Amino acid sequence: MAWQHGFAALGADFFTELRPSPLPAAHWVGRSSAVARLLGLDAAWLHSDAALQAFTGNGPLAGARPLASVYGGHQFGVWAGQLGDGRAIMLGETAAGWEIQLKGAGRTPYSRMGDGRAVLRSSIREFLCSEAMHGLGIPTTRALCITGSPAPVRREETETAAVVTRVAPSFVRFGHFEHFCAQRQTPQLQALADYVIARYYPQCRAGAANPYAALLQAVSERTARLMAQWQAVGFCHGVMNTDNMSILGLTMDYGPFQFLDAFIPEHRCNHSDTQGRYAYQRQPDVAYWNLLCLAQALLPLIGERDGALAALASYPGVFSAEFMAGMRAKLGLLQARDGDAALIDGVLMLLARHRVDYTIFWRRLSQAVGCGDFEPVRALFAQRADAERWLLLFSEHTTHMDHAQMAGMMLKTNPKFVLRNHLGEQAIRAAQQGDFGAIETLLRLLERPFDEHPGHDAYAAFPPDWAATIAISCSS
Ligand code: AMP
Ligand code: MG
Ligand code: MG
Repeated sequence: MAWQHGFAALGADFFTELRPSPLPAAHWVGRSSAVARLLGLDAAWLHSDAALQAFTGNGPLAGARPLASVYGGHQFGVWAGQLGDGRAIMLGETAAGWEIQLKGAGRTPYSRMGDGRAVLRSSIREFLCSEAMHGLGIPTTRALCITGSPAPVRREETETAAVVTRVAPSFVRFGHFEHFCAQRQTPQLQALADYVIARYYPQCRAGAANPYAALLQAVSERTARLMAQWQAVGFCHGVMNTDNMSILGLTMDYGPFQFLDAFIPEHRCNHSDTQGRYAYQRQPDVAYWNLLCLAQALLPLIGERDGALAALASYPGVFSAEFMAGMRAKLGLLQARDGDAALIDGVLMLLARHRVDYTIFWRRLSQAVGCGDFEPVRALFAQRADAERWLLLFSEHTTHMDHAQMAGMMLKTNPKFVLRNHLGEQAIRAAQQGDFGAIETLLRLLERPFDEHPGHDAYAAFPPDWAATIAISCSS
């Protein structure tokens, strides 16, 4: 593998160089051949013992330069001070620009009270969800592989250790900027901003009067688009602390996330989020609040408050436009027209009133538009009259449209397969017994979530009753 180590060139104020801590008796849990291809890795090598040891942190990868970076963050609305990669160790950046991180690779100077480890359960969730989001067309960090070890890791119960190899163009977070602002290290703050602009936002340097304000605006607009995509697909992140917000607008740090089963706007997927700060319907507002923290951190570079606030002014408009576009696509509306907004508001209120399964509703609606039989859609509602009223509105709004074309668009927008909590849980339980087949099956479905995958309808079915009892909290 050829490396360039762009982040490492920033210098010692930004990280600590250290080696991963080995784990005993490493074994494979899962691998993504799509991510292997992305990295240009040889498929046979990815099955070798050398790869197994390297991605468990047990053996060096030639040319790697492992480090843990320092950042800060607002956690649940409160400044948490210095944080950092407490259990993630970056191996470096490949020549093609992919940073590679081992998550769960042992203690670092930023581990605080933590053990530097990740358990098999949460690693499987991160691995599968990274690839599921990519399959859905939603920006995300990627995951190359998981390895496991019998080494015990103490959480509520004793579990076993795993390491996820994560891949992204950059793992820089809002919290990196907040750290250098809080430390009043303006030269470092500027070096980081210049690095991010040069590498990832070159358009902010060329021609912008204030490149740092331009950076803030670009990050804000990417974040707005990401929020629109999360909301439209029904994804709830669960821990939108500023240290979990990507400067590239990627979904990152998968913890207690959930794809909604029933459409419950106030749904909280994080068991520790007692106030509902990170509830599904609050995500777009929370992201804006997080952007205000980023604006505050960039203020020493931007120079004046008005300029920073002006850079965020486009957020609500970009979010609304992207969300509307996403919902129009879900409804098969080929172009924007008067009455779209009422139709969209109407369907979301209808789904919320009846707590209808979000993914199944959209998939059945897509099929109904194609074949003309709306009975499977009506059957999702206990009181059909309410659904009937909206379906009539939808039918009137779309009478002159080409329904085959609409259905084609809808079936490519409304996934058949999402990583529901209970599906992850079933794969986890099997893996804890040494059976990794379900992980492979799920990965295959989630990589192409809009395809029918005959014979796998059980993975697209309603959640079982026990799904409601799954409780997932922050770090595990
Ligand atoms: P999270 O809630 O997973 O985003 O974690 C918040 C912070 O705690 C991050 O800086 C993590 O690196 C750190 N952290 C979480 N779990 C652990 C752990 N088991 N060991 C060390 N650090 C951890
Ligand atoms: Mg985190
Ligand atoms: Mg984390």
